[in-house]
Amino acid sequence: MHNGKIKAIGRTASIKALHGSSLAVDYNCTGMAITAGFWNSHVHILPPELLHAERTPAPALTAQLQTMFTRWGFTTVFDLGSVLSNTNLIRSRIAGGSVSGPRILTVGEPFWGANGTPVYVRQYLIDNHISLPETTSVSQATSRVDQQIHNGADGAKIFAGSIEESGVLLLPPEIARAVVDETHKNHRLVFSHPSSIKGVELSLDAGVDILAHVSTFEGPWQPPLLERMKAAHISLIPTLTLFDVEARKSGLSEQAAQSLIHLAVSQLHAYASSGGQILFGTDIGYTDHYDTSEEFKLMSQAGMTFPQILASLTTEPATRFGYSSHSGTLAPGMDADLVVLNADPAADITALSRIVYTVRSGKILYSNH
Ligand SMILES: [Zn+2]
Repeated sequence: MHNGKIKAIGRTASIKALHGSSLAVDYNCTGMAITAGFWNSHVHILPPELLHAERTPAPALTAQLQTMFTRWGFTTVFDLGSVLSNTNLIRSRIAGGSVSGPRILTVGEPFWGANGTPVYVRQYLIDNHISLPETTSVSQATSRVDQQIHNGADGAKIFAGSIEESGVLLLPPEIARAVVDETHKNHRLVFSHPSSIKGVELSLDAGVDILAHVSTFEGPWQPPLLERMKAAHISLIPTLTLFDVEARKSGLSEQAAQSLIHLAVSQLHAYASSGGQILFGTDIGYTDHYDTSEEFKLMSQAGMTFPQILASLTTEPATRFGYSSHSGTLAPGMDADLVVLNADPAADITALSRIVYTVRSGKILYSNH
């Protein structure tokens, strides 16, 4: 690796013969596996430890970003809802070198309608003095998209279906459509939180690009819906572990929790086996379940093979988000973002969570060696 890029790949002897003295440091990775750095396409820059970037010392920010992201191999993350000005500050401190962390892409503040703040974040927002706007007209939607993209957002996120005490509240379709159209006009992608089948249909009608979760209200996805999703080139971020975490948090019985997880796994199975694009994501930063091993096990249960799961962590997101010319694969000239695992994930999928080193731009951001 040189100047943040991969310079050469090969056996030690051939690299030394070619590059000799430019090989400055040796790391012994005998018996380990090396992959491209991982992408997590659904996170939140929202934990209290990250909320006040203007007054948090660099080592504390670095430690929290390591606990959430780099310790699990993530060299790029997509934040699907946060305070944009704060996330921008963290990004600029990482870019300036004072804080170590992953590449962070963000949608900034998400879009929901009148009374559409999800019930499960209300108290958190109040406790932390965060006010996120409700969008109640098409003109408001359009100008907010323009403003956020002007301020650095890399995409937009709508709550097509927002979970409220009374059930799933759907975003007015004209607002969903306005957010999508304006974001596309700015050459960026739109994520949607569907919650229910009606939420998936509303997302499709509006023209969104990526579902931020499977939907667990209103039953399994039937073939006609899957066909529509495929035809619309929808990418799916399953976030299966989230449904386990939520089931435990809300005190569901073991049987009810199992059937919720089973439904989530079956949605992923249905879309992955029909050839839909899957992007790895866990919703960490909303949940504090940072360990990725359960997600890999559940993705396997959904029938995804090791190469498919690895692709959901690397080549698929790099392609979907327009980074494939320099990210997602290991080859000379690509970003020197890589992960060293202590075992072979082709033999045991949970090896994808047993990280020895996480390297971004040629620098070690996490080591347990
Ligand atoms: Zn989320």
